[in-house]
Amino acid sequence: MLIKTLREEVLDANLELVRRGLVLYTFGNASGIDRAQALVAIKPSGVPYEKLTPEDMVISDLDGKVVEGNLRPSSDLPTHLELYKLFPNIGGVAHTHSEFATAWAQAEKPIPCLGTTHADSFHGPVPVTPRLNAEEIEGDYERETGVVIGRTFAKLDPDSIPAVLVAGHAPFCWGHSPAQAAHNAVILEYVARMACHTLTINAESRPLARELHDKHFLRKHGRNSYYGQVKVQ
Ligand SMILES: [Zn+2]
Repeated sequence: MLIKTLREEVLDANLELVRRGLVLYTFGNASGIDRAQALVAIKPSGVPYEKLTPEDMVISDLDGKVVEGNLRPSSDLPTHLELYKLFPNIGGVAHTHSEFATAWAQAEKPIPCLGTTHADSFHGPVPVTPRLNAEEIEGDYERETGVVIGRTFAKLDPDSIPAVLVAGHAPFCWGHSPAQAAHNAVILEYVARMACHTLTINAESRPLARELHDKHFLRKHGRNSYYGQVKVQ
């Protein structure tokens, strides 16, 4: 069996999305990539989560050709593949229709950074894509979804803002592993919910000061991070 460990990691990431209440029925999918072998493992399409095993994960190459597995891959596979091609440092992708993040995507509004919870994980507002045009929707829709995400990140760093809201659809999140992608999807939903509450309490709430935003993001991420325990190399 190909990439056994990655299959297990991808299954765990998918189950984490369910455990955290981000997925209704089968509305979600997580994947992971083995960069050395250029293989992606993703959840199969439409199989109930409680029945999934590592063997059920579908293995695809970067062109979307299934190289192992009897089930059809998640229909969003071409979006995941596009993200792996566009963002060379990522190792996992998670897509959900979680309630609050999806509400922001439907409202076509970026999620502003209103507090340090947001700043700890996202170094800037979580952007929203432009709408796909009719040609993109009628053509290779799932791949075009990845392409529009790439366009949205033309001037943004996907490693410091590991999430996007696809207009009228829902969020896609990523990370250095499938577990990290699922974690970011959970944090995104929490941040999206709090931003909604904050703006309900005070529609004039202002984004966090740049200095505080930088402080919180950079103490957790990057070369000079100091949050948590010292990592043994
Ligand atoms: Zn979707």
